Amino acid sequence: MISPVEQFAIALKQSNNSLTSARREVFGAMLTEEPLGMNELVGKLDGKVNRASIYRVVALFEQLGIIIRLQIGWKYKLELSDSFSYHHHHATCLQCGQVVALPENEMLEQKIQFLALTNGFVIQDHQLEIRGLCTKCHKAKDLLQNKPWS
Ligand SMILES: [Zn+2]
Ligand SMILES: [Zn+2]
Repeated sequence: MISPVEQFAIALKQSNNSLTSARREVFGAMLTEEPLGMNELVGKLDGKVNRASIYRVVALFEQLGIIIRLQIGWKYKLELSDSFSYHHHHATCLQCGQVVALPENEMLEQKIQFLALTNGFVIQDHQLEIRGLCTKCHKAKDLLQNKPWS
């Protein structure tokens, strides 16, 4: 199996794009478990790649299918596409905005495939968005509701 970095180099080559240092830095910064907001990405690359270049690289990567945009309400976060990590889904906290990557679930994937196929649909890809409260925010809410002093 080839590494994500090697795969990234191949994807650039195949699309006739050279492996510039800005592109390598952005890809490296995206190699995390957590999806990143544009500002977080810019922050991570502070002093290495300037903002305008980051925006350009992100636009190219989106076009090449290297990264995808996760729409979270009216905002979005960026993440490497499934071909560079494993396929997974996310749960977003409506209170603090935290996005949690959920572990792979083979049964769920088979169900989704089955549902699509039995409706005459061949899936190319899919996203599943779960919204709610993360453990931390959920606990905070419970605490407020059970205020002993109220
Ligand atoms: Zn939260
Ligand atoms: Zn899935």
